Amino acid sequence: MSVTQRVVLITGASRGIGAACALRFAKDGYACVINYLLSKDRATEVVASIEAQGGTAFAVRADVADSTEASTMIGEVVGRFGRLDVLVNNAGVLRGGLLMLMDEADLDAVIAANLKGVFNCSKAAVRQMISQRSGAIVNISSMSGITGLAGQTDYSASKGGVIAFTRALAKELAQFNIRVNAVAPGLIDTDMACEIPENVRQRFLDMIPLKRLGRADEVAGIVRFLASSEASYITGETVAVSGGIP
Ligand code: NAP
Repeated sequence: MSVTQRVVLITGASRGIGAACALRFAKDGYACVINYLLSKDRATEVVASIEAQGGTAFAVRADVADSTEASTMIGEVVGRFGRLDVLVNNAGVLRGGLLMLMDEADLDAVIAANLKGVFNCSKAAVRQMISQRSGAIVNISSMSGITGLAGQTDYSASKGGVIAFTRALAKELAQFNIRVNAVAPGLIDTDMACEIPENVRQRFLDMIPLKRLGRADEVAGIVRFLASSEASYITGETVAVSGGIP
């Protein structure tokens, strides 16, 4: 790694949108830290494909829902590279189901991964970014957090929380030249979208003006933009990548 190489940590980068973000940042010369929870082999494949293109990457296992693991992970990144330029809070889970039937353990798991995970990783990363007087955080929310979706009160609440968190943290960190933004994907063609029952998926699809699922790389392009100097006057915003869902 060269002294000036920028460093990005992407949570949940073993597959889906996170993996696409890693490949996108690597293409622009970033050293990429690939966080994963269970999918070690897939995280290793992402690292290998970045290295095969001449890039720098390493994989680190951590449960973002656990504050100690999140802060140890950031410590490892800073220990290895001496800096952290971009944090992409992407890790997330979907459970869903009607509120009346919702299991409390599922609710806790969704809030812990999708919302508390964003707090944990941001809190640990911000210490380093403040000392650098620069940085960018991009949080992956969801259109569910804006519009609300029946059968997803847990998920919608967690993702709405991410948007409010983004606005508030942007105000806290602007004085340190650190920007915080969010992306709200619609229905994107990943493993997570496959977890949605076929009839519900078809209903969602009918609501999308562009009449197709989004691709992970279409989300990654906007994440990359928000982290870049092209977006140097944008903070506290949430950008929809939804095929036109209002
Ligand atoms: P995905 O294919 O299911 O991948 C989820 C990723 O999150 C995996 O890499 C997984 O790691 C990781 N992860 C889950 N819990 C974690 C934890 N506690 N700690 C660390 N990593 C964890 O999902 P995706 O579709 O790419 O979604 C990525 C993000 O976009 C999520 O926040 C999701 O809510 C959001 N989003 C997705 C869609 C969509 O339609 N796909 C729409 C809107 C928003 P392991 O595999 O290693 O366990």
